[in-house]
Amino acid sequence: MSHVKLYIPGPVEVSPDTYAAMAQPMIGHRGKGFQDLYAEIQPMLQSVFGTTRQVFLSTSSAWGVMEGAIRNLVRKKVLNCCNGAFSDKWLDVSKRCGKEAEAYQVEWGQPVLPEEIDKRLATGAFDAVTFIHNETSTGVLSPIAEIAALKKKYPDVMFITDSVSGFTTVPVNFDELGLDVLLTGSQKAFALPPGLALFTASEAAMERASTIGDRGYYFDFLEFRANGEKNMTPSTPCISLIYGLRHQLQKMKTEGLENRYARHARLNGMVHEWVKKHGFEFFAPEGYRSKSLTCVANNKNIDVAAFIANLKKDHSLIIDGGYGKLKGKTFRISNMGDESDESITNLIAALDDALAKLN
Ligand SMILES: *Cc1c(COP(=O)(O)O)cnc(C)c1O
Repeated sequence: MSHVKLYIPGPVEVSPDTYAAMAQPMIGHRGKGFQDLYAEIQPMLQSVFGTTRQVFLSTSSAWGVMEGAIRNLVRKKVLNCCNGAFSDKWLDVSKRCGKEAEAYQVEWGQPVLPEEIDKRLATGAFDAVTFIHNETSTGVLSPIAEIAALKKKYPDVMFITDSVSGFTTVPVNFDELGLDVLLTGSQKAFALPPGLALFTASEAAMERASTIGDRGYYFDFLEFRANGEKNMTPSTPCISLIYGLRHQLQKMKTEGLENRYARHARLNGMVHEWVKKHGFEFFAPEGYRSKSLTCVANNKNIDVAAFIANLKKDHSLIIDGGYGKLKGKTFRISNMGDESDESITNLIAALDDALAKLN
């Protein structure tokens, strides 16, 4: 079977051992088999989230929980920090949920800064803030610890964090950071197929949710908690993906989180060396560059579409040609998930070859 290996920043490549782990006979989601599976993965999830709280499994892509967090937690007004495609869309989603929402708009490619959030929260107008830890469209990593530290100053504001493409590539410790919601998705660094979102929420978030009448059902945080206490989910979950999740969590445990972070930093560094060697520039400024993907600025004005076509035709792999309005002006290379020194070395050889063939 011909197979095009994915180096796009989501969905990422899924390893054969993960598919094998997913191929289990189906079980009922209200029976002991499922409850045992749920209970088995819960401590591993808590360890990667850095929390003693429940970690919830949502059968949806990450957007489900991103919308759900707005519906559960915003009473007064939400500040949406916008610095790329995903974060900009979160503002739109807030409005579509009928919430008062305002953007803290940053130019694409730049990070979200704590002092700017502070200034806006100081107005007292907001009771929730959303921000994206790793903006996948631009390859920008915003300073999560400094932003989360503002929670102490604004205890009544809900701090809602998307670390969909940053999670498990750099440390994100929910309890230590003191966030209210931390959410991620299966098809980024977890290297699972899409369709599963994971999140945890603070006690304050649960209290806020209990005061909101129109939370809906499918993403109701209180339903997740009540079912989670019984090792179940509110509705029928994607059980096959949860088998895959168990497998990936076991792999993370074996590797060790610190080693996993170091691996992502090292592989990301290899891609960065390739960028510099060829005279390309980074779209994100120094100090704010993602460790899970590289967003390369097309300062050399290469034909990005032809470059990607060469990679696909000659090497059976693809990278991404730039998100939305950045199409052709940037290209993105993922190093997240199950990638290794060997696979990134092969990728770099392919990038060299495909680039040489353009000239
Ligand atoms: C991929 C991604 C999402 C959206 O995930 P879906 O699975 O498409 O819902 C949200 N935020 C970030 C930062 C992402 O990278």
